[in-house]
Amino acid sequence: KKKIAVMTSGGDSPGMSGAVRAVIRQTIASGCVAYAVYEGYQGLVDGGEMIKQMQWEDVRGWLSEGGTLIGTARCMDFHERAGRLKAANNMIEKGIDALVICGGDGSLTGADRFRSEWPSLVEELVATGKRREEEVKPFKHLNIVGLVGSIDNDLSSTDATIGCYSSLDRICNAIDTIDSTAFSHQRAFVIEVMGRHCGWLALMAGVSCGADFVFIPENPPSENWEDEMCSVIKKHRELGKRKTTVIVAEGAHDQELHPISPSRVKDLLSKRVGLDTRVTTLGHVQRGGPPAAYDRMLATLQGVEAVKAVLEATPETPSPVICIVENKIVRKNLMEAVKLTKQVAADIESKNFKKAMEGRDAEFSE
Ligand code: ATP
Repeated sequence: KKKIAVMTSGGDSPGMSGAVRAVIRQTIASGCVAYAVYEGYQGLVDGGEMIKQMQWEDVRGWLSEGGTLIGTARCMDFHERAGRLKAANNMIEKGIDALVICGGDGSLTGADRFRSEWPSLVEELVATGKRREEEVKPFKHLNIVGLVGSIDNDLSSTDATIGCYSSLDRICNAIDTIDSTAFSHQRAFVIEVMGRHCGWLALMAGVSCGADFVFIPENPPSENWEDEMCSVIKKHRELGKRKTTVIVAEGAHDQELHPISPSRVKDLLSKRVGLDTRVTTLGHVQRGGPPAAYDRMLATLQGVEAVKAVLEATPETPSPVICIVENKIVRKNLMEAVKLTKQVAADIESKNFKKAMEGRDAEFSE
């Protein structure tokens, strides 16, 4: 019977537990044996109890749980060949040759690297006497399938990542809450949201909450952003608005890249526009709590598709990542998707914002 393992890695996101549930149950429904790797790649490197066989009932109720119930971690050992060698040995010991990883672009890169190195890792295990030749015969290839778990919606090639709509909901609820007090006192609020290289959360929160001004990492403010922002906000106030909302993505005020900061925005609104202004950093509330219905659906449909992809894979098929494009669950080339994602991040870091914006546009016009 084929053995398929699932793990979560990198930053947690709402819906990851639902994805694990879907992979485990689809694996069992397909007549295979399901395993969960606890604590991300660390669990794979440590082996033993960290790689656990899972039954149907073990994941009961997981669909509505936030975060990831099998844990996640950033694992330095897996960056080293020695760590990956241990991981390969642990997998062979359990008889597992297929791995579904739910994580961000870093985790997916690590997975693909593990797959391409797999034959040489197996060879080394035999050469060093850790495994016998006959023992490794059925494990000549490793199957990897990626699922994207991220609140930032930062993976190119998919319309939505597992967790981004829950996070957007949480941000909207927080802004609605702040709006009541802002309206009552006619205040201005500068709200910082997550998003290091991707302004999707900030932009969509701006659209969903009717913000007055939004700063995103891909699009640096113009030279005269201070005058521009103040005049927009003054105009809105003259039109009768009692509250002001400015949203700043965390990656939009990296001092190396952009000349703004939430406190600078606050000073401008207070001193130039004369508004009673406060700064609120939403922080980790954006990550936690039960997943929105959309993320439950996405996690389930994609988890099922991931198992189908594992069962249809051949040694020649490049590792797939499960995406959603125009409401259809599709498989894409994992490393191509990671490459596009890393390119936009690199363009932002090197201040090539025009190219970063073109990269984002290309994702939508694909
Ligand atoms: P997030 O988007 O939330 O940051 P991520 O998956 O991109 O999630 P990373 O911290 O980049 O998070 O990666 C998670 C783990 O994946 C790392 O701690 C490491 O164990 C493994 N990993 C990442 N990149 C590589 C790589 N190039 N080679 C081997 N392992 C890697």
